Amino acid sequence: MRDIINLERMNFFELFLWVIFMYDIIIVGAGPAGMTAAIYALRANKKVLLLEAKAYGGQIVNAYRVENYPGISSISGFDLANNMYNQVKSFGVDIKFEEVIGIQKYKVITANNEYKTKAIILATGVQNKKLNLENEDKFIGRGISYCATCDGNFYKNKRVAVIGGGNTALEDAIYLSSIASEVYLIHRRDSFRGDDRLLDDVKRLDNIKIITNSKVTNIFGNNCLSGIEIADDTSNKSKIDIDGLFIAIGQEPKNNIFSDIIDIDQYGYIISPDGVHTSCDGIYVAGDARVKDLRQLTTAVSDGSIAANVAIKEIN
Ligand code: NAP
Repeated sequence: MRDIINLERMNFFELFLWVIFMYDIIIVGAGPAGMTAAIYALRANKKVLLLEAKAYGGQIVNAYRVENYPGISSISGFDLANNMYNQVKSFGVDIKFEEVIGIQKYKVITANNEYKTKAIILATGVQNKKLNLENEDKFIGRGISYCATCDGNFYKNKRVAVIGGGNTALEDAIYLSSIASEVYLIHRRDSFRGDDRLLDDVKRLDNIKIITNSKVTNIFGNNCLSGIEIADDTSNKSKIDIDGLFIAIGQEPKNNIFSDIIDIDQYGYIISPDGVHTSCDGIYVAGDARVKDLRQLTTAVSDGSIAANVAIKEIN
């Protein structure tokens, strides 16, 4: 209501500028959900701004192979993200690489700009979880990576470790085994969360050494990472010399900056009872950022198309 009153109080010139520079839809996040929403909105002739803090593609760029996207039997996540990006660009999207620091009704705020819009789609996805060890941030890009397919090539014939027991960790270990001389797969339990099919592949590869019931307790190095300390269930500690540490322990959302305007659950996911609307009119959600049962590529692109369609209908 306050926004409407403010609009009414604008003089003609202010109102003219507001309308001229206003987007129909601003999409926050250029992962599969955000890029799909952009394609649908652009094909409906809407003026769209796609805002991305870092690099387009979201989590899918980390996938070594995508084999569960109908119509494409096998593609690297990196190639799929590039294809999506080129498709969005071909429809004439306005894309800016700026970190969003806040949203209001009809407005998205980045560090340097404020953008006016009729609707906002939040497709902020999830970020890689950290081990939260001392020195972890210091060695990011100097031996620590959260993306094997992005950084694996830096470790040709070197020794690396992968942390985690899910599909990402298993795939990362397999991928790195063809590049690095030795791969340690370190998991905190003795059974793996990832698929048996991938675990079988891991076990078949001679240069992967599986270490279970162990946690990383320390990271060493001067300028670059040179080793880690691990502790087993009985607190026995040992040191492993490695050049690269790939942390693949899952993801988490980062939606706290929106919590003053929309409802967020205790884990940081955006609450949306119908899977599209948030608790604030004109602000929609799509993809992994929302509370949902299945976070997959296919469900993300589904969310993106639905959010764009609902937003288009409601702003029309
Ligand atoms: P995930 O399935 O949540 O697995 C995370 C792993 O990291 C778990 O094994 C967990 O251990 C471990 N972990 C979590 N916090 C830890 C900590 N602080 N220290 C040490 N270990 C920790 O994550 P993901 O592997 O990234 O997969 C995410 C989703 O994407 C899943 O649904 C997965 O199936 C899917 N995915 C699918 C494919 C594919 O189909 N090709 C590929 C990649 C990912 P615990 O097991 O003990 O909890």
